[in-house]
Amino acid sequence: MAEFYVKKPVGEGVIAAVHLSTCSQLPEPESLMYLGSYASAEVAYKLANGYFPEVGFCPDCLQKAG
Ligand SMILES: [Zn+2]
Repeated sequence: MAEFYVKKPVGEGVIAAVHLSTCSQLPEPESLMYLGSYASAEVAYKLANGYFPEVGFCPDCLQKAG
């Protein structure tokens, strides 16, 4: 299991990026929403997509394209 966070998008047309808790590029805590601990990034992605219309994976910790 891995812990996932999503960076809340600021402004219009900004993608909400899903990160692992271990990401070296993890943004400021106040700009993050904790998604939870999941076996796959797909689950975290779908959950984040329930909050934000445009979601993508962080290129540093989650290479897979959304
Ligand atoms: Zn990341």
